[in-house]
Parts: sequence; C-alpha cells; structure tokens
Amino acid sequence: MKITEVRVILTCPTRNYLFVKILTDEGVYGVGEGTLNGSELAVATAIEHAAELLIGRDPMRTEDLWQLVYNWTYWRAGPVYMAALGALDLALWDIKGKVAGLPVYELLGGKSREGVLTYGHAGGDEPAKVADSVRSFLDRGYKVVRAQQGGYGGSGMASHEPSPRRNVPGAAYFDPASYLAETPKLFEHLRAELGDEVELLHDVHEQLTPIQAAWLAKQLEPYRLFYLEDPLPPEHYESFRVVREASTTSLAIGEVFTSRWDCIRLFNEQLIDYIRIKPIHVGGITEARKIMVFAEPAQIRSAFHGAGDIGPVGQAASLHLQISIPNFGVQEWIDFGTEGAARLREVTPNPCEWRDGYAYPHETPGLGMDIDEDAAAKYPYRKAYMPIVRRTDGTMHRY
Ligand code: MG
Repeated sequence: MKITEVRVILTCPTRNYLFVKILTDEGVYGVGEGTLNGSELAVATAIEHAAELLIGRDPMRTEDLWQLVYNWTYWRAGPVYMAALGALDLALWDIKGKVAGLPVYELLGGKSREGVLTYGHAGGDEPAKVADSVRSFLDRGYKVVRAQQGGYGGSGMASHEPSPRRNVPGAAYFDPASYLAETPKLFEHLRAELGDEVELLHDVHEQLTPIQAAWLAKQLEPYRLFYLEDPLPPEHYESFRVVREASTTSLAIGEVFTSRWDCIRLFNEQLIDYIRIKPIHVGGITEARKIMVFAEPAQIRSAFHGAGDIGPVGQAASLHLQISIPNFGVQEWIDFGTEGAARLREVTPNPCEWRDGYAYPHETPGLGMDIDEDAAAKYPYRKAYMPIVRRTDGTMHRY
C-alpha cells in the first residue's frame, strides 16, 4: 500500500477546524486533525510541505513516518509542526485500524475500562449561581465538574466591563487580589451546598505567581479538589515545587505542551498529578502514548485537554488512547451540541457518543470518524483571535 495524496481540509462550520485526509492506492483513507487555535493557516502550510515526504510511502509504517516528519525540518518540534505531525499521525493510525479491521484502541492494547470519564464546565457570577450551574451538569450525568466564577479568569474579572471576552481588541480584566479572596469562598459554598462526594475542579488559567498559587492551593485543601488546573505558567517548571511543597491539592498542567520535553522534568520530580496534553498537539497518538508511558511510573494520570477548539476527530483520538492506557484520569468534554451543531455535524457526521458522564470511542475500524469535504467547503476559514486578558490597570497579562 502506498500513500498517494494528503489533503488539508480547513473549515469553519462553527469555529475553525483543520482536518486532513491521507489517501492510498488501495482506496483506504485515513482522517486526522491538527486544529491549532489562531495558527490554522501555518499548520496547513506545514502539512502541505510535509506531504511531499509521504507520497509513495507505506502508510502502515507509523513510527518510521513519525520520525521522518519530526526530523525533516531540522528545526523540529514547536506547536505548529507538532500539530501538523499530529494530524498526519492520526490519519495514519486511522488507516492502520481500517486495514486491521479494528478500532484504534484495540491496536493500543485494548480497553482498560468501559468508558472515558469526562468533566464539563460550570460557571456563574456568584457562588449561588455557580452551585446551580454545577447541579445542572450533575443532573445531566456528569460525575466531575469544573467550577469557575466570573468568566474566563475567575472572580477577578471586572464585572463592569461589558462582554469583555468577545470584545477583541478589547480585553477581559483580571484582579489577582479579588480572585484570591473569592475563590476559596466559592468552594466553601459549593461543598456546603453540594456535599463532599461530587468531584470538583478549578482552572487558574496560569494567572498567578508561584507564591500566590501556593497560597491558593493551600486554602483550597479542605475542599478536596479533583485537581487545580494551570496554577502557573508552565515554562518555569521549578516554580511548581513551591506549590507542591505548600499543599496537598492535586495539580494538573500541560494543555499548551507540545512534546515529551515539556513534560519530562515535571514527571521525573512528580511535581504534578495530571497531564493535560492531547494527541493532536503533541504529534499524534504515537507521541501521546509514549508520554503517558513516561507518566505511568510517576503515578501521573491523563486529563486530556478537550476545549471547543479540539474538533471531533481530535476528540476521538483522545478517547481511543485514554480508554486503553492504565493511567487514565479524566477527559475535558465539549459536546458540540449547542450553537452551530448542525453545521459541524455536516462536516463530521459521527462524533463520539457521550452518555451519563462517560464518552466512548467508536467500535468501527480505525478512529471511526469521517470528514465530508463538500460540507467543509461550504464553510470557509475565517480569521479569528484568542481572548486577551489584562490587569485592572491595563497591563497585558497572559490568560
Ligand atoms: Mg486550562
């Protein structure tokens, strides 16, 4: 079998998604995804360039092709190339599964569990509203719920700013002092209202200094979070030791990581409890599986990133891997079932099933996903930017 064509499918049915299709001379094809929010055009160009390396090669040689594409640039890795490699790698695994007549998870060791535990995003402007929102997720079957107060950055977001997140080039505003004061009160309220058994987690969005994050993790200890996510910017890994030594609150990080090299020191020193990579941004299933093998002896579990900018094919790849690995934790979940869902359904007609708090990869050969290219062509790419967060005095700040 030989690869004959690599097609890039860039589409915006609801928001921008970047899919690929790898075609072969035997009629079998594979689908993949390399959506990288805000950088889709760069990823598309990288895939088109790498495609020349793949034409005429045997698609079953997943590992060798991974090494080939990884090393071809000399300037290897980085988010753009790893998303491009991720898209290609997913499509190659899809082909392998179709040839074998097996779903991808069977090729990864088979099921370690019956379903993939998921969490949803609850939020509100004040503790009582957040509690109501969490209850609505529990009523739908979720067992784990992320709780946020006051928008993207937490309660430190200034409420006087009208629709701040959507007001590009305007900004959302984050005030660390009010965020630190209000977040422990939020979780005190949630535990009082919802009891001790519901699993709650919280995302800091990298907005604190090491000592602020350590203080917050310590204050939140009595409320036993499933984990505290992104307490710090991840670039300076040693700052995690400050948080680690101050508290027993579980920590999760890694949604912006793009390779094993971002993870390995955190793993070796057991500075986190959950790793938030996902196949499409670390070079695909091939590399994500290896990262989870590195994580296993460090007792670190997966909590794969699954926000709305990871489309249905990337989501499926996360489920195939996480239903098979021993050190699975939880999967962030977006059900695509809201605004624009019908348009996205036209492009990717068979998203993975979710019921009663668990998600399930398809049991058909490969990833079990498909892309309708005619439907995708109806919704052309639209330039879009990520939200911006500033301090209350206007200083630009990471979100
Ligand atoms: Mg996060």
